[in-house]
Amino acid sequence: MEHIKIGGIEKFSVVDFPNSIAAVVFMQGCPWRCPFCYNTHLQEAGKETEISWPAFLEFLERRKAVLDGVVFSGGEPLVQNNLSAAMDDVIALGYKVGLHTGGYRPEALEKVLPKVDWVGLDIKAPLEAARYKQATGCFDKVENVVQSLRLLINSGKDFETRTTCDPRLLSIEDIYTMAAFLKAEGVKNYHLQKYRPIPSDKTTQDSECEKFFQDKDLVKYLSDTFEIFDLRK
Ligand code: SF4
Repeated sequence: MEHIKIGGIEKFSVVDFPNSIAAVVFMQGCPWRCPFCYNTHLQEAGKETEISWPAFLEFLERRKAVLDGVVFSGGEPLVQNNLSAAMDDVIALGYKVGLHTGGYRPEALEKVLPKVDWVGLDIKAPLEAARYKQATGCFDKVENVVQSLRLLINSGKDFETRTTCDPRLLSIEDIYTMAAFLKAEGVKNYHLQKYRPIPSDKTTQDSECEKFFQDKDLVKYLSDTFEIFDLRK
């Protein structure tokens, strides 16, 4: 097959794939331009790869005694047409498969879902076109994200939803709105991630980023609403 485009790898992670010791493969290419993106170097696809797919598979072959999972992250893994075949390669080596996605292409998610053991789905903003466009820099097809969410729920696969709390884009009220939506959809697993100002953001103060985590009413509401909830700083 034409190999997938790797932007980088993390050889050992205990935080990217719940209940797994995993390698993370960061895929090149993302159609979104989130203002809080820390992986802008992955947004454009087609760059020289620091590691080839066959070399990564050789690495996985050697690490079977240490690792039990591989997470496809990005970038947005679902933009790569060979993702499904790449997952087959990983599964053939005996690894579990994780996926990080923004739910950009539900038809691509549906294709790989049978191969995936766990998914982390980003919920960037309240599910309104204008808000999503602001949070992703370009994408207003919230129906794609909702469809991806429903695919996950109906699949019975293990998954989590999570939101990066960028105070330039989100208010505390927005978190309530998103949580209520997710709860109504049947989501049991939601997490808030702290925004750490990107290098070009010279104005956002840490106290603004912390406000989501310091709001006791919000934290209690989320803890009571979801079976699994945590704050990720
Ligand atoms: S979806 Fe992820 S990789 Fe893509 S622009 Fe947003 S934060 Fe960056």
